[in-house]
Amino acid sequence: MMIVMKGDATEDQIAHVIARVEQAGAKAHPSRGERYTVVGAICDDPKIIAALDLRGEPGVEKLVPISKKYKLVSRELHPEDHVVRVGDAAIGGGSFGLIAGPCTVESREQTLSTAMACKAAGAAALRGGAFKPRTSPYTFQGLGEPALEILVEARAESGLPIVTELMDVRQLEAIVEVADMIQLGTRNMQNFDLLREVGQIDTPILLKRGMASTVEEWLLAAEYIVSEGNDQVVLCERGIRTFETATRGTLDISAIPVAKATSRLPVIVDPSHAAGQRDLILPLARAAVVAGADGLIVEVHPSPETALCDGPQALFADTFSEWVYDVRRCVDLMGKVMAGGEPVEVGV
Ligand code: PEP
Ligand code: MN
Repeated sequence: MMIVMKGDATEDQIAHVIARVEQAGAKAHPSRGERYTVVGAICDDPKIIAALDLRGEPGVEKLVPISKKYKLVSRELHPEDHVVRVGDAAIGGGSFGLIAGPCTVESREQTLSTAMACKAAGAAALRGGAFKPRTSPYTFQGLGEPALEILVEARAESGLPIVTELMDVRQLEAIVEVADMIQLGTRNMQNFDLLREVGQIDTPILLKRGMASTVEEWLLAAEYIVSEGNDQVVLCERGIRTFETATRGTLDISAIPVAKATSRLPVIVDPSHAAGQRDLILPLARAAVVAGADGLIVEVHPSPETALCDGPQALFADTFSEWVYDVRRCVDLMGKVMAGGEPVEVGV
C-alpha cells in the first residue's frame, strides 16, 4: 500500500506514519518527491496491510493500494524514472548508457585495446566477463580472478567504469572489490539466494531477463534485490526463447515499453545475445532505442574471428565508432543524451 502524505506534511508526521507501519510488522519505504512524500508499506501478509488503517492520521492525504505483485520497483509507488549511476555515468531519466566491450576477458591486450576503442566511440562503461556461464563445460570458462585485474587496468587506462558478471556467491567478494556494476546473467535471473545477496551490497546491478521468463517474473526478480536494500538496479532485455531459430534469441521489443510503463527502473537492451550475429545488431539496437530503451550493452572485439566466446556476434573494435554514430542518431531522435558524452579520439 502507498500512503500519500499531504504536500505540507511535517517531518514529525512522516516519521509517525513510518513508525506505525513498522510497528504493524510491515517495512516502510519513504520516497520524497518534489511535491509530496509517499510511504510504501510493504508486507507479504495482506492482513497486516489491510489492518493498517492510517486514514485520518495527521499529514496523510490518501491510501492507495499497489495493484502489482512487485511493489518497490513499480511505477505506481515511484512515478519518476529511477536513475542508476555507474561510475560517473547516469543510466535512465533521459541519460542513455552504452555499455560495450568483449564478451569475455581473454587477455590484457585484447581487453585494453577494446576498452580504448569503446571509450573513443563514446561508451559509458566497459563490459567484460571474468567468470563465464557457458552452455558446454568443455568451452572456455573465463580467466576468473586474473581477468578482474585486467579489467581494473582497463578502467585505469580508459577511464570507463567496469561491468562484469557474478555467477556464484563465492565470487562476490572478489567482484565487489573491483566492479562498478555487477551483471546477473539470464541463467541466474531466478537464483533467489544470489538476488538476495546482491540486494545487500550497494554496487549497481544489471539484471538480465531470464530467457524463458515473463516480464512480471523479471520485475519480481528485481524486487528481490530492491527489497533487500539495493535499489541501484538496471533491467536488461537480452532476447527470449521462442520457436524461431533464425536468430540466437528473439528480441522482445514489447518488453521495453511494458517494463518501462510498469516499473520505474531503467531498461537497457542487449542486441548482441538476442541476435547472435553481427549484421543484425544495428537494426535491433536502433529498434530498441526508438522503443524507449535507456541504454544498450553490446559485445566488441578487436578480432572477432579469434574470439574465445561469442565471436560471430562481436562488433569490430576498429569500426565501433561508426556503429555508435548510427545509434547516436536514434538516441538524439528520442531526445536523450549519451551518458558517455561525445566521441573522443584516444590512441585507438
Ligand atoms: C553475456 O553478457 O556475455 C552473457 C552471458 O549474457 P546472457 O546472460 O544474457 O546470456
Ligand atoms: Mn557473450
